[in-house]
Amino acid sequence: MTPIALSRLHFPITTLGPGNRIGIWFQGCSIRCPGCISADTWAVRRETTSVEAVIDVMDQWLPNAEGLTVSGGEPFDQPNALTELLQAFRHRSEADILVFSGYPIEKLVPHLERINGLVDALISDPYLVDTPQTKALRGSDNQRLHRLTALGETRFAAYDRAVQSGEKKFDLMMDADGTVWMAGIPARGDFEKLSSHLSNQHHTVLTTQDRSTSRARRGKPHD
Ligand code: SF4
Repeated sequence: MTPIALSRLHFPITTLGPGNRIGIWFQGCSIRCPGCISADTWAVRRETTSVEAVIDVMDQWLPNAEGLTVSGGEPFDQPNALTELLQAFRHRSEADILVFSGYPIEKLVPHLERINGLVDALISDPYLVDTPQTKALRGSDNQRLHRLTALGETRFAAYDRAVQSGEKKFDLMMDADGTVWMAGIPARGDFEKLSSHLSNQHHTVLTTQDRSTSRARRGKPHD
């Protein structure tokens, strides 16, 4: 049983690739880009589950899943679990696989060669908070979309473009305890706008965005 540390698992996700997709967010990220919107996924936690258990949950969704999106956290920080998960998915489904990584692809080449053909499309490179944000599926324009297989070419060629005005940015979901969470790639300032709007209506809003850059800009010390 290969252990895997996960933050979330959900279906359907519609904002991180084409069609209705299974979304898997790994827990733990050693890259820690300033301004990351998913800072809650940085910590390496002791609790893990197994790849087999994740596959068991995913099985119910496979007949309707048009793709798998793996994000985080940093999926390649758990290379064995990632490989096993993708192998199991590919064995069960013909749907495409998209992986987000904060590492440059050049650093991932040995791993990608070992799992040849399992990743159809890869978004690589760290999130840079001061870089423009105009490209589809990317949080900052330095990030690169790599179409690594014929299926990746077919499914993701259409994403080599600027983000379109009015394009859906978020999937909004609610956990059993009433926590609302979002999947997608928000524009900068979206969290602040949402937070301000809901606070005006007397709701409490906690976001997962790393605040170190805004604190630094305001001249306040880091925690
Ligand atoms: S953007 Fe991705 S790689 Fe960068 S800190 Fe956040 S989770 Fe890690």
